[in-house]
Amino acid sequence: MAEVVMKDVTKIFDKGVVAVKDANIKVKDEEFMVLVGPSGCGKSTTLRMIAGLEEPTSGEVYIDRKMVNNVPPKDRDIAMVFQNYALYPHMTVYENMAFGLKLRRFPKLEIQQRVREAADILGIQGLLDRRPKALSGGQRQRVAVGRAIVRKPKVFLFDEPLSNLDAKLRVQMRTEISKLHNRLKATMVYVTHDQVEAMTMGDRIVVMKDGIIHQIDGPMGLYNHPVNKFVAGFIGSPTMNFFDGQIVDHIFKADGISVAIPEEFWERLSGRSKVILGIRPENICDARFADRITHRAKVLAEVEVSELMGHEILLYLHSGSLPFVARMDVKVDARVGDKLNLVFDMGKAHFFDPETEETL
Ligand code: ATP
Repeated sequence: MAEVVMKDVTKIFDKGVVAVKDANIKVKDEEFMVLVGPSGCGKSTTLRMIAGLEEPTSGEVYIDRKMVNNVPPKDRDIAMVFQNYALYPHMTVYENMAFGLKLRRFPKLEIQQRVREAADILGIQGLLDRRPKALSGGQRQRVAVGRAIVRKPKVFLFDEPLSNLDAKLRVQMRTEISKLHNRLKATMVYVTHDQVEAMTMGDRIVVMKDGIIHQIDGPMGLYNHPVNKFVAGFIGSPTMNFFDGQIVDHIFKADGISVAIPEEFWERLSGRSKVILGIRPENICDARFADRITHRAKVLAEVEVSELMGHEILLYLHSGSLPFVARMDVKVDARVGDKLNLVFDMGKAHFFDPETEETL
């Protein structure tokens, strides 16, 4: 297995479209690295440069410590799984999985053995004689993964492999790919626009926007210590609430909200007047059930919409003119129009510079 390194990589397409700018990424041996970001942020282009399907405009790509800028895709010892599966329709599942090995002139017996092994791992032994059109989406995706496994590549590259599946199957395949990673102990780079996929699957996550890497960290690092408002808002669902306001005497004030700022933030915020307060929906609770919160700040708010999810309730509220979302235990039996005494857990608050949007 191998590490993958991108050093100062930039990709500029025709007409000056900067798809990726100064990317520096080091994927460790056996690591599961996820590239995540909104549509058009450059994550697929980054992956395609590792695969050799796009050529960097500048910078270097290394696989297993070897510079591969001039190495064609077929010689990079990588295997890629695409969103549309890219199976050959006229071949059976067995032939699809065996094809890459045949091209590389592997002995027939070894091909058989590798295909059977991969089929066992993926639970598709019974499908080997079928053609792709006789498979469900999830089965096709397994075949596409199987075709990558048989190659025993140094690096697996996944480009949104689950986005064509329905929600339930996506969750199931997510855990299967994670299990596969544990079993194969392979280096994997995985592209998705779905932050839940990123958070649940990645050892580490690269968060991108507009061709720029904003942060690389583990899931909890991104969640607890986002470097800026974009990362804070992108990671977590429902998204973090943001309030534009002012600090006066260690109190944060915005229309309808006036909350005390815990002492631990004072030094970082000293000399600042305008800031953005960020607070996650899960860090807001009903005052009646707020005993365990140390840094409580009371807010009165009215319920606009209430969504009961079974194990929790999402409340869309407003305080003054400010809308926000809270995620609570179902024991909070709130109805539309109710006025609730809420508590913001200010120990878990985030503050951002309104100009640069950097975390303060
Ligand atoms: P998505 O999730 O929508 O696939 P992405 O994050 O993977 O988006 P990329 O496909 O890497 O984004 O595209 C990054 C930017 O580069 C976009 O602005 C896109 O329009 C542009 N781009 C991608 N491929 C090309 C190309 N072949 N020629 C010109 N511009 C391109």
